[in-house]
Amino acid sequence: MVDVGRLEQIGRELLVAIGENPDREGLQETPRRWANWWKEFIEHDPGSLETTFESVEADQMVVVSGLKVWSLCEHHLLPFWSELTIGYVSAQRILGLSKFGRIAQECAHRLQVQERLVQQVADKVSRTVGTDDVAVVAQGQHLCMMMRGVRMPALVTTSVMRGVFRHSGRTREEFLAFLERYRSC
Ligand code: ZN
Repeated sequence: MVDVGRLEQIGRELLVAIGENPDREGLQETPRRWANWWKEFIEHDPGSLETTFESVEADQMVVVSGLKVWSLCEHHLLPFWSELTIGYVSAQRILGLSKFGRIAQECAHRLQVQERLVQQVADKVSRTVGTDDVAVVAQGQHLCMMMRGVRMPALVTTSVMRGVFRHSGRTREEFLAFLERYRSC
């Protein structure tokens, strides 16, 4: 649970530490707003994640693209956004379509690195649909690269290929072709 009162104190101290006067006009409510933002981000409720249906047809590939989430880099506490494409090959169960977005949101609303984000999304999809045949690709821009450090816009891609996506070149190519088609539309 997020300690909003403590965050409010820290927010005030942060303003003092950067040479600001927390009592000046414009900043009086800032520590409170900042504390509430943290609460909202960390305690984000993605809604129900678990609805699955009986599979209509086994071995069918399902790919959902364009899931854009905002997360926070754990090295710099600076935001990054990431656009995810999730694919799996249906086994016994299929996942309700809105659940992909919710799973992505759930994994994004914490201190994160994009490399782990794709792993956690893959784990969750895998557990929910009961298959190891899962692929997740994320592409994002990180403020810690753009506002500081190299100060250069760059698109960072991370991916995880499991089960049939790892072992079968054909399945992987089919999945990546969906990704290409999505990008060009
Ligand atoms: Zn960073």
